[in-house]
Formats: sequence, structure tokens, C-alpha cells
Amino acid sequence: MNNENKSNIHDFDFNLICEYFSLTERQGPGSREMTLKALNIIGAPGPNATIADLGCGTGSSALIIAETTKAQVIAVDIFDTFLQKVQQRAQTKGLNIHTLHASMDKLPFAPRSLDTIWCEGAIYNIGIESGLKIWSPLLKDEGHIAFTDATWLTEERPEEIENFWQEAYPQMGTIESNLKIIEEAGYRTIEWFVLPQECWTENFYEPQRAAQEVFLSRHRGNPTAEMLVENQRHEAEMYARYGQHYGYVFYIARKR
Ligand code: SAH
Repeated sequence: MNNENKSNIHDFDFNLICEYFSLTERQGPGSREMTLKALNIIGAPGPNATIADLGCGTGSSALIIAETTKAQVIAVDIFDTFLQKVQQRAQTKGLNIHTLHASMDKLPFAPRSLDTIWCEGAIYNIGIESGLKIWSPLLKDEGHIAFTDATWLTEERPEEIENFWQEAYPQMGTIESNLKIIEEAGYRTIEWFVLPQECWTENFYEPQRAAQEVFLSRHRGNPTAEMLVENQRHEAEMYARYGQHYGYVFYIARKR
């Protein structure tokens, strides 16, 4: 039997996820202002600097970095559809961005070759601790990391939201626990800040509403597609109800 043209269920799911998120400009909470704020904290990189944006998605941060700095930007993701989108968007804006298909835990960069590692809304894929340890040797001495991650902001949380995140991201830390991980992984934190709520609402969940209509009309009657949209709607609803208990925190640190 020839199975070559058959995609297994995982490919199918990934394709759907990829298609869904290709319909939006960003794939995680954030904003132009917050990316620029983090860039300013690090300071202007020179023309010989290399910045890798790991888990770049369709390029929400890579495009801003390429537009506002002289650095060479390398946008890294495991989905070619996203990387193609980055290239399209870069071309439209007349920007030069390199794209690289690679997993953030198996990066082909030479030791001490990167000035900065950027990672908005993607480090959770491998966990902060292992991400920071794997990336440290790739950074030049005193190189920087700048990443965002979902973080608990309150000590006491309603059970419903505890359970939701326990299922979705059980390793989610507090600011305190994340700062400790950063120090122990060989970095010194320069600054951290909590992203404002509109980074989730206006910039992440609201654009998904229009995307959901397009996506559902394309995949009417497909239970996997419907489930995906249902999950995203549920996540947005959780944020509307319990968003004061967690948020994205931008962590900016220097390799020691
Ligand atoms: N940084 C973008 C996208 C965040 S969504 C933004 O803020 O809009 C998370 C991204 O991580 C997705 O694009 C996903 O394809 C990518 N990703 C998931 N696992 C990865 C891995 N192991 N290596 C590299 N990228 C990965």
C-alpha cells in the first residue's frame, strides 16, 4: 500500500494550526511598543550584530527588529508556511531578513555567534530552563536574551484558571521563579516588565475573531477545525475572566 500521499493526523493538525495562525499578524500576545521597549533596554545593535528571533511565527517581532535596527535578523521557526509569510512581509516592507527552518532546541548556529536571542511567546515550547541553557553557548560574551512568557501574577488563583493552565502549560512560573531560573542558567536580568492587557485583547484575541470566521467557512463540518476554534475562543474567554492573575512578562537579561 502506498501511504506517501497520506498525511497522518498530526500533520493534519499542524497544517490546520498553521493555516489558522497564518490568518493573523501575530501568533502570541505582544505589541510593537513592547518589542521596541525591550530593544531600547538592550541598546542599539551595530551593523555587524546578529539577532536570532526564535519561534518567529509570521514575523511580528522580526519585522520590527529589522525595521528599526541595523542588525542582521535571522527569523527561525519550524513551520515553512510561517517563514514564507515572514519573507513576503519583509519584501513588502523592503526589509532584509534571513529565514531559517530549525527547531529552537537544535540550532545550527556556531558557538558565540549571536549578539541577541529574541523569543516572544515561544520559549514555552521547550521550557525556559532548557531554552536558556541551550542558547547560552550560542551567545557572544555579554550577549542578550529577550523573551516573553506567560507568567502567574498573583499568589491566589481561582481553581478554574489554575486547572486551565495546569493542563495547557503546567510549567508556567511566577516572576520570582523565572528570575531565579534566569540567574541559575548563567544570565543577569537587566529588566522585566508585564505586558499591558491590550497585548492580549486588542492585538491577539480580537484579530482572531475575523480569522475564525474565515477559517470556519473554509472548513465547515470539519470537527478538528471546529475544535481548534473552540479552544481558542475558550482561551480568550479565560483571559477575559481571569486575566488579572496571569500575563506575558518580558524578561531581558545578559549572559554572564
Ligand atoms: N513570536 C511570534 C510567534 C509566537 S507563537 C509572535 O509573537 O507572534 C510560537 C511559535 O513558535 C510558532 O510560530 C511555532 O511554529 C513556533 N515553534 C514551536 N515549536 C518550535 C520549535 N521547537 N522551534 C522553533 N519554533 C517553534
